[in-house]
Amino acid sequence: MIPYRPEPLTDFSAPHHQEAFAVALARVQEQVGQTYPLIIGGQTVDTGRYLESYNPSAKTELIGRVAKAGKPEIERALRCAQEAFAIWSEVPVVERASLLFKTAAILRRRKHEFSAWMLLEAGKSRAEADADTAEAIDFLEYYGRQMLALAQRADALLTPFAGEDNHMEYIPLGVGAIIPPWNFPLAIVTGMTVSAVVAGNTVLLKPASQTPVIAYKMVEALLEAGMPAGVVNFVPGDPEEIGDLLVEHADIRFISFTGSKDVGLRMNELAAKRIPGQRWIKRFVAEMGGKDAIVVDAGFDIDLAARTIVQSAFGFSGQKCSACSRVIAHASLYDPLVERVAALTRELKVGDVREMAHFTGPVIDQKAFAKVTSYIEIGKQEGRLVAGGGASADTGYFIEPTVFANVAPSSRLMQEEIFGPVVAFTKSTSFEEAIAIANQTEFGLTGSVLTHDRSHIAYARRKFHVGNLYFNRKCTGAIVGVHPFGGFNMSGTDSKAGGPDYLLLFTQPKASSELL
Ligand code: GLU
Repeated sequence: MIPYRPEPLTDFSAPHHQEAFAVALARVQEQVGQTYPLIIGGQTVDTGRYLESYNPSAKTELIGRVAKAGKPEIERALRCAQEAFAIWSEVPVVERASLLFKTAAILRRRKHEFSAWMLLEAGKSRAEADADTAEAIDFLEYYGRQMLALAQRADALLTPFAGEDNHMEYIPLGVGAIIPPWNFPLAIVTGMTVSAVVAGNTVLLKPASQTPVIAYKMVEALLEAGMPAGVVNFVPGDPEEIGDLLVEHADIRFISFTGSKDVGLRMNELAAKRIPGQRWIKRFVAEMGGKDAIVVDAGFDIDLAARTIVQSAFGFSGQKCSACSRVIAHASLYDPLVERVAALTRELKVGDVREMAHFTGPVIDQKAFAKVTSYIEIGKQEGRLVAGGGASADTGYFIEPTVFANVAPSSRLMQEEIFGPVVAFTKSTSFEEAIAIANQTEFGLTGSVLTHDRSHIAYARRKFHVGNLYFNRKCTGAIVGVHPFGGFNMSGTDSKAGGPDYLLLFTQPKASSELL
């Protein structure tokens, strides 16, 4: 088998790529506004109640209506998933993996089409959407190979023992609830779903309410590749109506969640409580928030630092749990760095991402718009506004990339996850102090250190407590297989998506021993 290799990104400066994307976008644009069913046990179900998904760049443009599952549909999906589990869990690993490879091929063939759906449904720029589709392909290719490797390595890990035939195999857990976020509406949905499935589990997939159409498209691709009925059940719905139900259900064996800290903590609590009839301790896998910092050391190139910060803070309007929201800069370069970041930020064009010139698209919805703009108001109290600050929700949910200087490390702006295009600066007087400030958070997801001093690199490696630590580069854009992704503390269970240990979370090792 060809070794795993990350999917290359599209260079949109090349006219032929621009044209190919334009064709895909026009085709997808013609398909907006359709109605999509649930998929339960391989059958489509229309409940007559719908989630409506709108384009955040043009908020009255309906992208699609997706049927909402309620309690009866969840019960039915659980039964189908249980029935399917009995068969799917025994399908040879090679076949399960090959289904992922076929799905990857489908996504690769229709790459721009998937990206175009994300451009319209999530407000991703071409480059961000393209990276999202590439990452979805990566997850399929990577987890397929990881499962094959896991199946092979199990026995090899055992110590041989005379007179016995011993084995260990990684068997699946059962039926899981997959609850992904809207910010990587293809990549993370795909990764969370297929990691569980390739390990032999069956799932109920409840996509984020903001991006159900692209999730439907992914399930369609899995079915086209030959996914048997009942393995992936597509059950969108209102979180208030079916969120707790899914997590609390006695028949759910594991929950794989990516989203906010508050929702994750609540799920963790619900999942820990044994329900009558429940025969296991539920496994809970969570990727939650971040309050990610870039530390800029004395002597670092100011322009390079500024570009790194702008990219990390404002790509996809800062709506990544890996996004930079704090900058801790050494006093010797603090003022010119703030100036340079502010200047670069003012150059960013904000608007409907159908226009290629718009680097910054909208935030995802009205609720996000209200939250981010309220933090901008808080920022005006807590620091000095140096760039951006403007916002308008007239046509889409647009917020200017915003920079605050002189913000205290303990302030709300420096402590609370905003999940929008807002970055706050604070000053440090030594490298040790900078790392201490960086660690002064309940989160621990990503962090970057920009320095030319090797002893400082060594120090940060030991002391900077984040799951993904980067040196002299941006703190976003982890690549599957290259940078296993996940954080410490309130950032989640450090499950390391796209890493060699991830599939262990969806399996349980079984040992058998025969006396010869
Ligand atoms: N893996 C993404 C990155 O490295 C972030 C994922 C997320 O925001 O949930 O930028």
